[in-house]
Amino acid sequence: MKQRHDKIEEAKELSGAPGCVECGRCVAACPMAEMYVNFGIEMSPRGIIKKTLIGDNIVEDKNIWYCTECNSGTDACPQGVSCRDLIRKLREAAIEENLVTDAKQCGSCGRYFLAVPVEEFVFGRLKTEPANVLKALETCPTCRREIYLLRNA
Ligand code: SF4
Ligand code: SF4
Repeated sequence: MKQRHDKIEEAKELSGAPGCVECGRCVAACPMAEMYVNFGIEMSPRGIIKKTLIGDNIVEDKNIWYCTECNSGTDACPQGVSCRDLIRKLREAAIEENLVTDAKQCGSCGRYFLAVPVEEFVFGRLKTEPANVLKALETCPTCRREIYLLRNA
């Protein structure tokens, strides 16, 4: 298995993080500012990028689990840095090290498919929905599709 350092180097290369010029456009485009009352630079795409460039401890940082993977920051970035790809790879590295406190497992296949803070935000807004709707959200998109296809076969 690859070491943490190698995985972070891969994440940097894939996302283009070293090209960041700290302009902050990704932060202005990021929806997390409106989602979380505790939003701050530590959680922002720019903050995550900066911490990734400084050291490998970013894999243990709770702040990598708030991102919605929307990709808005990437679209806004003049340097083509992908905050989404970076955070995805950091999460993969965390899961491989079993740092999964903030990762949500599919209720059917067991795969980690969602970040707990994102789930809490979504469920907080859906709490008046029927139980079957909320139950469907406990499974990953692949399992949800299979269950739907089986039910309608
Ligand atoms: S928009 Fe791009 S260059 Fe600007 S801070 Fe974000 S990642 Fe860095
Ligand atoms: S992908 Fe994540 S970090 Fe980037 S803009 Fe969307 S929520 Fe923010």
